[in-house]
Amino acid sequence: MMHGQTAPDQLFSLLPSLDEVLRRPELLALADQYPRPMLAGVTRAELARARTEIVQGIHTVETLQVLVDNLGESVTRATKEALCGTLVPVLNATGVILHTNLGRAPLSEEALRAILDVARGYSNLEFNLETGTRGRRDQHVEPLLLRVLSWLTGQPVEVVGKSWSVAVVNNCAAATFLALNSLAEGAEVLVSRGELVEIGGGFRVPDILRKAGVILREVGTTNRTRVADYAEAITGNTRMILRVHQSNFKMEGFTEKPALSELIDLGKRADLMVFEDQGTGLLISLDSIGVKEGSSLLDSFRQTPDLIAASGDKLLGGPQCGLLLGRRDLLDRVRANPLYRALRVDKLTYAALGATILSYALHQEESIPTVRMLRIPADDLRRRCEALQGEIDANLLEVSIAPVKSVIGGGTTPDAALNSFALSLRHRLKTPSGLLAALRLQTPPVIARVQDDCVLLDLRTVPPEQDRLLSGAIRNAAQEDRE
Ligand SMILES: *Cc1c(COP(=O)(O)O)cnc(C)c1O
Repeated sequence: MMHGQTAPDQLFSLLPSLDEVLRRPELLALADQYPRPMLAGVTRAELARARTEIVQGIHTVETLQVLVDNLGESVTRATKEALCGTLVPVLNATGVILHTNLGRAPLSEEALRAILDVARGYSNLEFNLETGTRGRRDQHVEPLLLRVLSWLTGQPVEVVGKSWSVAVVNNCAAATFLALNSLAEGAEVLVSRGELVEIGGGFRVPDILRKAGVILREVGTTNRTRVADYAEAITGNTRMILRVHQSNFKMEGFTEKPALSELIDLGKRADLMVFEDQGTGLLISLDSIGVKEGSSLLDSFRQTPDLIAASGDKLLGGPQCGLLLGRRDLLDRVRANPLYRALRVDKLTYAALGATILSYALHQEESIPTVRMLRIPADDLRRRCEALQGEIDANLLEVSIAPVKSVIGGGTTPDAALNSFALSLRHRLKTPSGLLAALRLQTPPVIARVQDDCVLLDLRTVPPEQDRLLSGAIRNAAQEDRE
């Protein structure tokens, strides 16, 4: 043993018993809030940690005495930490509007109210109020969505209502999987080699096809695929042509792919279903914000493939879900698949999705946060940056304003960049990654990015009513003890 250390036995004797700790006033005060076994478990763990530290030779009588004196406090803290929720709101200052790691689309107030109304009590989720008999849950979305699509595309609502049907499942990956499995199990599905993509979070088109029990027939090459390639690949066992929107990457240069309309013509001639995995769910035009490319649910719907799959929480701006739109007879077969039951969504999703679609129907799509964020003019963001710059005023921080590009994200429009402005922070003592980490430790945590040795906070994805919260968090993060 080293000189000056106290024998472990002597230190162990300083540790109080479990019961003594539980009788400390701090813990007695917690007794009505937390069950005793919980408090005892946390206390036991704290005492065990102290014993390990003694064995490791970390403690002197003095340091151990401090630890023992603070046990009431440390057990209280550990109990509260163990029992707090881990899923918390954050401020997204990345400028990525559909950030999959940050929960994609924030919901509109209307969608939130609809969730509250339905969640609080019972609802007519699967109950027909006219007849008093069992109803279909898709009825809460199908007529409304088809009406909106018919208005937005100018197609007669009676025709749309008769020929199309809609199913809602857990996400777009589930919609694609369910459609393939319901309609083409055991048969061949044609997919261009340029569309055998991975969309993120492990969604790989070839894997989904295999798991759905269909036979993937690759056609064309990575960069060029023609209608003739599809036509030549057709056999007696071919059932479907699948078109997958490339989502999160873009091919440039010597590339070619047939228009969806050409595939639809071929499908009609060869009696094959044409299924487009559209992805974004976009129901507005992005022309006015200067975004030209990209796939839109409206364009896809206009061309009338047999089936379309889209996400609810990308550019549609609703809750996480997958929409499967298609020919009524095909959707009947999809709904007859036992997997539909396994992939269906709950009443909260119908409530939020219905309210979101209603905002489009009422031409109030600006109430949907994603739509609003897409349309914010850069000048508004510059003015907010200036106001915040004046407010932050922390002596360790240099705050400037930088022009940046926001991106849409979420695997939607890989190239689209929206002009935006960011607060650019440099700390006199902290490194940029140190400051980034300090921002993440705030309540609410602030998520930003580093570029050219500065921490950038893009205001496009921060709701204006949270600017004060953001400036407070920045000031706090700048002050906290240096690393
Ligand atoms: C995003 C996307 C998916 C996956 O959608 P989830 O709703 O996340 O399951 C599938 N296909 C395309 C084309 C996409 O863009």
